[in-house]
Amino acid sequence: KRKIAVLTSGGDAPGLNACINAVVRTAIYYNYSVLGVRDGYEGLITGRVMKLDLTDVNDIIHLGGTILKTSRSEQFKIKEGRFLAYEQLKQKDIDHLIVIGGDGSLKGTSIFSKEYNDISIIGIPKTIDNDISGTDYSIGYDTALNTAVSAVDKLRDTAESHNRIFIVEVMGRDAGYIAYGTGLATGAEGILIPETHMDHVYLLDNLRRNWHEKRSSLILIVAEGDETGGARRVAEEITNYLGNKEIRISILGHIQRGGSPTAFDRILATQLGNMAVTFLNKGAKNVMVGFQRQEIITIPLKDVGRRSMSLNEKALKLLEIMTS
Ligand code: ADP
Repeated sequence: KRKIAVLTSGGDAPGLNACINAVVRTAIYYNYSVLGVRDGYEGLITGRVMKLDLTDVNDIIHLGGTILKTSRSEQFKIKEGRFLAYEQLKQKDIDHLIVIGGDGSLKGTSIFSKEYNDISIIGIPKTIDNDISGTDYSIGYDTALNTAVSAVDKLRDTAESHNRIFIVEVMGRDAGYIAYGTGLATGAEGILIPETHMDHVYLLDNLRRNWHEKRSSLILIVAEGDETGGARRVAEEITNYLGNKEIRISILGHIQRGGSPTAFDRILATQLGNMAVTFLNKGAKNVMVGFQRQEIITIPLKDVGRRSMSLNEKALKLLEIMTS
């Protein structure tokens, strides 16, 4: 029987198990045997693999985390480490590999695929930050966004009760997807994301006007990658500007990575996992599967990279109107 190995690599994200489930089911359907690699590239280098059957993936679709575990691997970044990974694959007679990972992991697979052309690799994009190019959505983003939204809804209750200002820092690395989405979905009075290079005088005036008109609560969403330097710096500025208001800071942090995936993420993960195997079965190699305009497409691994949000005029106007 032909073999497909699957691994999860890099930061975890909700929906990985749904994707593993789809890979295993599709591969078995097409008569492959499936091997799960433990701990991402670390497990590939040391040969930690286990056979995956349908019973291993029953009832995992709704679980956060990854049954295969994940890791960051310094060894895989160097040629010698990747050679060890290749040797393990050859030794185990595996020539099909599916990597579910972020842009770092996919960069790694791209390099690996150039070095060892006899392994067919398909990448699947996952990141809560949604900042992988070539796909409209990555696995985990929708869940992280929804987690942030329900957290901010709760903070609004307490902010309202005490007439407080809350500054909420959300994840997203250098991209503003989570912050922009969270801000819009919660009716935040301010959204600071790297892509807009927001003028602070404008923002502070806006907050002051909001405060005087509403006199109840203000919520400001700050993306972790915003150039203002995060929630604490912004809090100082607001204190200086608005006077001694009750300001609270909440850094949502790692709760955004966990939890049961949303229906959207489960379905996306299922479609991507399914099509990764389908394309592999048809002879595709060294591509990433992506979701673009309701279709699952492939793009060459070498073209995959990071992206930031592109905010057109309409999106900027929406932001301005909804926060003013
Ligand atoms: P993510 O995949 O979530 O973006 P990282 O950027 O930490 O997470 O990458 C995960 C792993 O992918 C790294 O620990 C490393 O093993 C591998 N990797 C990342 N970048 C490269 C690279 N340029 N060359 C080889 N391997 C890489």
